[in-house]
Order: sequence, then C-alpha cells, then structure tokens
Amino acid sequence: MKAIVFREGSQWAVEDVPTPEPGPGEVRLQILRTGVCGTDEHLLHGGFIATLPLIPGHEMLGRVDAIGDGVDSRLLGSTVAVDNTIHCGECEPCLSGRHLFCENFVSLGCNAPGGFAEYTVVRAAKTFVVDDLDPVASTFAEPTACAMHGADVLALRPASDVLIFGAGPTGLILAQLLKASGAARVVVAAPTASKLELAESLGVDVTVQVDRTDPTGAEAELRALAPRGFDAVVEATGSISVLESAVRLTATGGTVLVYGLAAEDARAAISPYEIFSRELTLKGSFAQAFTMRRAIDVLRSGAVRTDGIITDTVGFDDFGRALANLHDSSQIKTVFVP
Ligand SMILES: [Zn+2]
Ligand SMILES: [Zn+2]
Repeated sequence: MKAIVFREGSQWAVEDVPTPEPGPGEVRLQILRTGVCGTDEHLLHGGFIATLPLIPGHEMLGRVDAIGDGVDSRLLGSTVAVDNTIHCGECEPCLSGRHLFCENFVSLGCNAPGGFAEYTVVRAAKTFVVDDLDPVASTFAEPTACAMHGADVLALRPASDVLIFGAGPTGLILAQLLKASGAARVVVAAPTASKLELAESLGVDVTVQVDRTDPTGAEAELRALAPRGFDAVVEATGSISVLESAVRLTATGGTVLVYGLAAEDARAAISPYEIFSRELTLKGSFAQAFTMRRAIDVLRSGAVRTDGIITDTVGFDDFGRALANLHDSSQIKTVFVP
C-alpha cells in the first residue's frame, strides 16, 4: 500500500509499504479521511513523542475492511472514528487509574503507524461507529475528543467568562464546547479576520483581532472587555508571548489552560509573584483520554459544529500542500484523503 512516511532530518516521502494485517482484537481500516494537525509538523521535525520513521496521521476515519481473531464480525464494513491511544495497563500510572500518563503510551500516528496511508490497523475496542454521522463532522471526532479532555481539565464553573487565544480548529471547537459547558461568555482572540468571522458564525460571543505586529493593542482591547480579567483563559496557539499575555488577562483566582503545543525547549516569562498573590491556577491538556464517546455525541447533537472549518483536501500527490497549509493563515483545517 501507499503511505506517507516521515524520516529523520525532517524528510518525508510517499512510500510503498506492506499492507498491515489485523492481529487478535484488531481491525484493519481502509482510510477514508485523516485530519492534518499542527502536531504532525512537530512530529516531522522529531518533536512531541515522534518515533521515526513514522506513518503519521492521528485523526483517522476509516471503513473496517478486515478483522482479527475475536472481533465482532458486525464491525466489518462500518465507518469508524478511532481513539488512537493505547495504554499498557501495567505501569504504575495505569495501575493507579491515570492511564493518560501511561509510561508506555502509544499514540497511533505519533509513535506508531497512523492514518496518512491507504490502510492502518487499530484496536477494535478503540473504534467508534459513526455510520450515522456526517463524514465532515466525523473527521473531527479525535480533535473534539482532545478538546473535550481540555474542557474536563479546565472544569469551568458555570457562567464563567472565558477567553480563548487561537481560532484554529482547536480554538473553534473548544469555544463551542465551553459555551455548551455553561460559559456565560466566550471571547476568541486571533489574527485572521476570516477565522474570527467563522468563530462568530459558530456561536462565539465576541471576537477580537490580534495584530501580530502589535499584540499589546489586542491585550488592551481584551482588558477593556474584562477589566478584572477572565475567569479562564485558554492558550490554544503554542505562542510564548500569547501565554504570557494569557496570564496577565486571567482574573484573580482564575485559571490558565495551556492547550497549544509549543516547542519543547520554549520558555515563557511568568511572574511567580502574580501566581502567588493572585492565586492563579495553571493547567495543561495534551491529549484525549476516554472522551471519544462524548466527543461524537456532542458532534452528533450539533452543539459543536464543524461546517466551514475544513479549507483544503489533499491526497498522496499533493501532501506537501498539507504541511504548507499549516503556515498559511487563510487555511484552517486540511484533510488527507488517500
Ligand atoms: Zn491533532
Ligand atoms: Zn501504562
């Protein structure tokens, strides 16, 4: 079969690789669509938890075309979204019920083969049938599950005033999810006007355009919207200056959620005194964990909408554009279709 393969030295190519066969408890998926994510670029450069060479692609939607021993044959032919995580169940964190921190954590598409390929093999128990759901919405099952975990970590108080930095796929999904989770107001701040318009059409209350050359102007505008700060501020860009701004814009007693993926060696200047004296809480959220079912339910309900978020579709021949799109501010989400 054909697959995209990331190799050492930030190299990638379309390669012919053996078509995988499902083992006991596994199913083989014929990939229908796999979302391209900013994480993929970090992986290309050996960042995050990359194990190279790698077939990337962690936001998979596929049709079950073969099953291994012990798998219910009714799954054959179903369209499924995939929880791409595997926890060993035997390490100390797993045995303490903290599977997300599994010491042998496997994330298909990050440190094991994923979905930028014609076929992939996943555990049957980690598939979620979405035959009834629109394929566009289904493509967002995994990123919505990640956002759901972020919402769980944030644990908003009802009627909170929330600011989200970033209007990428994650920011747009989190904004809707937090609105549906009882936020009184959700403000989204980002540089690109078209993304902010989309945010408004998806139900975001207020949007603020950030001028990349003068971010302090946006901070003043946000300060004017919430003079005492926001109860919760979500950093969904991975930018250091944005995180620093997020801390300043968080209300006393409030929470900052670090959701964006920054470089591993990046450092931010944050005042310990401010965290101490204003009793700020800093939280992180890095992956989805046991949230796929709820993610699919919230997509099915329409409380989280995805129309307008996919801005480009690529295949094997033009996969390079998927990576280029990650740097094109007019693009939001690219989907790979083999
Ligand atoms: Zn992702
Ligand atoms: Zn484990």
